[in-house]
Amino acid sequence: MFFSVRDLEVKKIHFETEYPAGEIDFLDPGVEQYSVLKTRGVAELLSNTLGEIRVKGHLDVTIQAACDRCLEPAQFPVDSDFDLFYRPAESGVLPEEARIDDGELEIAFYEEGGVALKDVLREFVLLAMPMRKLCREDCRGICPLCGSNRNLMECRCEEKPVDSRWAALKNI
Ligand SMILES: [Zn+2]
Ligand SMILES: [Zn+2]
Repeated sequence: MFFSVRDLEVKKIHFETEYPAGEIDFLDPGVEQYSVLKTRGVAELLSNTLGEIRVKGHLDVTIQAACDRCLEPAQFPVDSDFDLFYRPAESGVLPEEARIDDGELEIAFYEEGGVALKDVLREFVLLAMPMRKLCREDCRGICPLCGSNRNLMECRCEEKPVDSRWAALKNI
């Protein structure tokens, strides 16, 4: 689905659609669309701007990404409202009076006469992902000494700390 400025000049576009799992490419090998993505909302061209497009709606999807600590795949549900603004890339900096107040969420730019819904969804999902992606709050991560996943196996490395003088010798 593509929201072209030409169509939006005539009227707002309401959308309600689904993308099967894997359909949206997040351009990041660590992030995958794990479930169907359901979305609905509206795209409109804002008056009194130089062609600013606002896409507002709701999306619901489960993302799979590697846990930051143990690197195992983990699922992250994103079920959230979004409200994104797109300015034409060629417009450059907008005059002061055309700026939106501090309440604005995210501003991006568009080219080629409009905005693709998939690009909007990709961008929002990446923004909505937690800063620290953990498979669970208390993920114990990977042992820095033996490299085993400490959620799965007690490796006992910490029980016998290596004497740093000997560790230095071992590296020779
Ligand atoms: Zn983990
Ligand atoms: Zn270990």
